[in-house]
Amino acid sequence: MELIKIHDKTFEPYISAQQLEEINARMAAEVYQDLGESRPVFVAVLNGSFMFAADFVRHYKGECEISFVKMSSYEGTQSTGKVHELIGLSSSVEGRDVVILEDIVDTGNTLEEIYRIFKDKKVKSFRIATLFFKPDAYKKDFKIDYVGKPIPNRFIVGYGLDFDEVGRNLPQVYQLNTSITMTNLVLFGKPGAGKGTQAAFLKDKYNLVHISTGDIFRFNIKNETKLGKLAQSYIEKGDLVPDEVTIQMLQEEVEKNPNAEGFLFDGFPRTIAQAEALDAFLSSKGMRIHGTLALEADDEVLIKRIVERGKVSGRADDQDEEKIKNRFVEYNEKTAPLIAYYKAQGKYHAVDGIGTVEEITVRLSKAIDQIKAE
Ligand code: AMP
Repeated sequence: MELIKIHDKTFEPYISAQQLEEINARMAAEVYQDLGESRPVFVAVLNGSFMFAADFVRHYKGECEISFVKMSSYEGTQSTGKVHELIGLSSSVEGRDVVILEDIVDTGNTLEEIYRIFKDKKVKSFRIATLFFKPDAYKKDFKIDYVGKPIPNRFIVGYGLDFDEVGRNLPQVYQLNTSITMTNLVLFGKPGAGKGTQAAFLKDKYNLVHISTGDIFRFNIKNETKLGKLAQSYIEKGDLVPDEVTIQMLQEEVEKNPNAEGFLFDGFPRTIAQAEALDAFLSSKGMRIHGTLALEADDEVLIKRIVERGKVSGRADDQDEEKIKNRFVEYNEKTAPLIAYYKAQGKYHAVDGIGTVEEITVRLSKAIDQIKAE
């Protein structure tokens, strides 16, 4: 695979010039079928759409006009906020069939502005054609009439699209390659082992997205969400939350960070079923777990630490000795089998979890550097 580097990031080929040609031919035929000889006005939104627009109109069989516009934004008054206006619309569009040509629609914010601007222009008909569409990122419900290709919510570059202004001239589309440069780690250990404390340092040092399932549950409980209500009774007793709930939640968190340079999973997986689901899910995205860092400490030390933490954390499951003990029972029964699971994959790295926070960070960093070098 021919990888390219733009600024500090690596990209891999995603959509070939040949595929782009086919998409353009199909879209042009679809639009022609609807508008035929009505001499539509194609309005291409610069900068990203310049290549798409050029190739699209090359395929359009009928007579047409083409106008290139730019969205410019300026600070309006306090009540209007940012104001967008269209500059460069050369054709008169009143009474005409207008088709907007966009390179990509993601959140839909630009599309919303375009709809607003064209509302008063007395056009005969108004359509949107976009080469790429990110359904996972789209937050509006404006109609999109023609879609070249729906794509996942990942960063792409080339064929008019840029990464900090570079890459627009590439004749094909590339996507950010996170699978070769990314490092995904599991921070593993019994309750109180110091996973959360260490994660706070490691995520910054290695530029990782930290996902703590315990933190997400606590956030949801505090905000009284549906998920929070579902998880609360389990957590308060020191039981594990059911796998289906936790696995789905975790997948959603990963999906929210399509451009992450790596993930630090903290408190997940906690069962074999979760570990298997994680492996399958990551593999479906061309990703994998690179290593598991296990913070090791004796139960007596850990129980003491949790009791101390309970005095300040306010966590219901840190307060009561019975609940704390139950978390260790849950760990021994359901989580401990993961040690063998990751050892069998050659991914288990034990780290002594007794010492100062700094000492343990140093030990973990050594293990991570070794994992990254493998
Ligand atoms: P933690 O903050 O990681 O100690 O998690 C606190 C509590 O959240 C646990 O005792 C469980 O009840 C619940 N929890 C966190 N992560 C998971 C998980 N991966 N599977 C099931 N329950 C979890």
